[in-house]
Amino acid sequence: EEYSRLEDDLRELDEELRAHLDEEVKTLDNEPVKLQGNAALLSDVPRIVEFGAAGIGLYRTEFPFLIRTDLPDEDTQYEIYSRAVKGMGGLPTTFRTLDIGGDKPLPYMPITHEENPQLGWRSIRISFSMEELFRVQVRALLRASEHGPIRIMFPMVTDPGELKKARQIVLEERGTTGIPDSREIPIGAMMEVPSAVVLIDQLAKHADFFSIGSNDLAQYVLAVDRGNAIIGHLYDTMHPAVMRTINTVAEASKASGTQLGICGELSGKPLGVAALIALGLRDFSATPSALMKIRRLLQCVDSKELAALKPAILSAGSPEEVRNIVREALKKGEVPEMLWR
Ligand code: PEP
Ligand code: MG
Repeated sequence: EEYSRLEDDLRELDEELRAHLDEEVKTLDNEPVKLQGNAALLSDVPRIVEFGAAGIGLYRTEFPFLIRTDLPDEDTQYEIYSRAVKGMGGLPTTFRTLDIGGDKPLPYMPITHEENPQLGWRSIRISFSMEELFRVQVRALLRASEHGPIRIMFPMVTDPGELKKARQIVLEERGTTGIPDSREIPIGAMMEVPSAVVLIDQLAKHADFFSIGSNDLAQYVLAVDRGNAIIGHLYDTMHPAVMRTINTVAEASKASGTQLGICGELSGKPLGVAALIALGLRDFSATPSALMKIRRLLQCVDSKELAALKPAILSAGSPEEVRNIVREALKKGEVPEMLWR
């Protein structure tokens, strides 16, 4: 009986959320908000469109690599990226270059034993040490831009030198693939390593946009391996240290006039999104299964009321305190509980 009641509740929620899909995404006080979806495989694309997202804010390109038995060549990659771009029907797709290693080892890559894989040979570090692999991917991405708007972003950037180098490689490959100068392909960096946050003003000189990777950012700010179950209770993206770090990124991006979004799992969590609105974020990319609920939540909150929580969030002493501050405000604002409970 309990399970069929839960099933009925879910069906009801689904119907209620679908009824608002053709309404614009803006807060109660008419503040426009952008909500995009995160994709890993092509099967995510139609769901992202169906759930009313404004684009793909994070395409994790490592997944097509992870499900194969050897490296996909340039044409195979081009095919995959093109299908994603076409599937979005004119809405933009932000492709993140290969983010393997750490918790995502490629089965057919040279096996290296590392004491601290999360601090080791992963992500853009692999792309730089296997530069031809990186260039092949960049070419495939650039070629896919003939089918619709794309952006390219690099994971785990730690300093301006890396971003400059990656950007230079894209520019060189633009030349070899003959992409017309008039075609705009913004280049950005993930904000997911503390050193990038510290140097954000310098990174801004080489970036068209930033996207906060709250999953890794929390891992590195809190010094908690995100995949280690023994210390799983210490990993919390609502931690006040993470909130303050995100706030630093938001303020610095604003000061440098750099577009800022967030694509970590925090933007698929209702309390997280409300806290992020309080810190001034307006650009979210969430996992497809969370899209409809977050969309509706955004339509039901008042951004000015949430902004008033900023000092309290920034002076909170624990993740639970941050959650309570946000919960109280949502209750007070009469935001339907089914959207954030
Ligand atoms: C992140 O770190 O928040 C992120 C979006 O990337 P991934 O989870 O793929 O590392
Ligand atoms: Mg990451």
